[in-house]
Amino acid sequence: MHRYRCQLCGITSRSYATRLGAERHGHGHRERRHGGDHPDGEHILTAGYRGPQGREWTAVVLTFALIAVALVAKLV
Ligand SMILES: [Zn+2]
Repeated sequence: MHRYRCQLCGITSRSYATRLGAERHGHGHRERRHGGDHPDGEHILTAGYRGPQGREWTAVVLTFALIAVALVAKLV
């Protein structure tokens, strides 16, 4: 997940599935609050995706990948 962070305003955007989504949020923020200029310290935060129950989806994907590898190894 990706979030836009503006250090100057002390705000962090909602989460976006894509970096482009967070960048677009940042573009809108710059236009509204900074006249289109880039404030010092702005950046995109990137973190593992957390599902509705707060599960770490990266761990879920890795678990399924390990199971798939184990099944393929068993078939060979
Ligand atoms: Zn700002």
